[in-house]
Amino acid sequence: MAGKDRGKTGKVLRVDTKAGKVLVEGLNMVKKHARPTKQGEKGQTISLASPLYMAKVMLFCSSCGKGVRVHTRISESKNGAITKERLCAQCKNII
Ligand SMILES: [Zn+2]
Repeated sequence: MAGKDRGKTGKVLRVDTKAGKVLVEGLNMVKKHARPTKQGEKGQTISLASPLYMAKVMLFCSSCGKGVRVHTRISESKNGAITKERLCAQCKNII
């Protein structure tokens, strides 16, 4: 992926296709400051993974052995069913 976590890989925890975002384990950690709820309690900083835009995330291609950009190929079969395939931009294998 691009940005501060460039080069890292992580497990995709959740995909939000509507928002075009993915939640990746261990990436794009955001520090949230939890305020003390009771008197005498210490405030603490917790880390949370926050969703990333899919455009920033590259899929890992097992044939190439690295993160690659993908192309989406939409094909229509004879019975009219539309299928979407994700192709590795480099080796053209279906991911
Ligand atoms: Zn590939």
